[in-house]
Amino acid sequence: MRHRVVLIPGDGIGPEVAKAAQRVTDATDVAIEWDVRAAGASVMEREGTPLPDDVLHAVRETRTALKGPITTPVGTGFRSVNVALRQDLDLFAAVRPARHYPGVPTRHPGVDLVTIRENTEDLYQGIEFERGSARTEELRDALVRLAGYRIPDDAGVTLKPISVSGTRRIVRFALDYARRNGRKRVTLGHKANIMRFSDGVFVNTARQIDRDEYPDIDIEEMQVDQLAMTLVQEPETLEVLLLPNLYGDIISDVAAGLTGGLGLAAGANLGWEYAVFEPVHGSAPDIAGRGIANPLAMILTAALMLGHLGEHDAADRAERAVANLLEEGATLTPDMGGTATTDEVAVALVGRLRGEGSP
Ligand code: NAD
Repeated sequence: MRHRVVLIPGDGIGPEVAKAAQRVTDATDVAIEWDVRAAGASVMEREGTPLPDDVLHAVRETRTALKGPITTPVGTGFRSVNVALRQDLDLFAAVRPARHYPGVPTRHPGVDLVTIRENTEDLYQGIEFERGSARTEELRDALVRLAGYRIPDDAGVTLKPISVSGTRRIVRFALDYARRNGRKRVTLGHKANIMRFSDGVFVNTARQIDRDEYPDIDIEEMQVDQLAMTLVQEPETLEVLLLPNLYGDIISDVAAGLTGGLGLAAGANLGWEYAVFEPVHGSAPDIAGRGIANPLAMILTAALMLGHLGEHDAADRAERAVANLLEEGATLTPDMGGTATTDEVAVALVGRLRGEGSP
């Protein structure tokens, strides 16, 4: 079966790592028809927008995209492309595996966890009141009436909505993910003792869905500060983390750092209908165009995509090729202590997948 996938190379090192990922994916012999679309700073001038309509249409058609990093335009009045994709395609779940591969320096060998982060609500919803503005003044007055509390007149405010409906879908998504991937325990991070009416909704909704619909999976509730400590002390005990937006953003970076950092961190933004796979790292303008970007995060991201397309064997082979390369340690880019170029890493992986060189 032939899969159609939109490839958005992106900005900075994006095209370099995207090309490497495309070559390695093709070397798995899964038939993919790549629909390459430009988005980001590179098309701003020509198209007048960093996210031309044809890109969104193409993703709606294929339902799956592999995306390189995109430079967030500052002060142009445009939404970040990443935020626009997330909102327009309703990609409510951010999924980031953090697995340790032998050969990568770490204090914690054996880590193999996945962070699932709610992607649309919480403090990131963008409901903000600027310090000193008339709207904030109105809010202050309303809060005196509604909550009997006057916030200081020099305060700025960001609101934290967490809904039952928004929580339901991320909880079901996480529990389905655990079930599909043979994981028995999902650790839910929260601070419901302090934020009773936002994190409280998250915890109570999850508890009920778990009890009623997923008796085979345990949800372990953990305060997010304790979760942070567990992550640095015994991360190998964690399987799947389920977190509201802000905690998820922070905790998933800690998990990535524990297992090798930006050069290896793969990710996906998923909804019920569409899937956009992208590495965690940005466009790295400091090294763009030099041919030394580490393509492994993008390649592991492509492997996640293969799994999503049902090509589990190809996904496993691509990941094993990366693991093998890391263990051998001979063909790595400078960020991982090696001297190889992006292309050399891609060639080494293609060779492994085609059965030349090391198994
Ligand atoms: P960055 O991830 O681009 O770079 C941080 C550091 O890590 C830099 O020193 C960079 O050289 C290094 N690095 C990152 N990826 C690497 C790789 N694959 N190989 C080798 N070294 C790598 O973060 P930043 O500098 O904060 O952001 C740069 C731009 O990227 C900004 O415009 C930011 O908004 C954007 N960004 C986009 C995304 C995305 O599209 N999903 C994510 C993060 C940042």
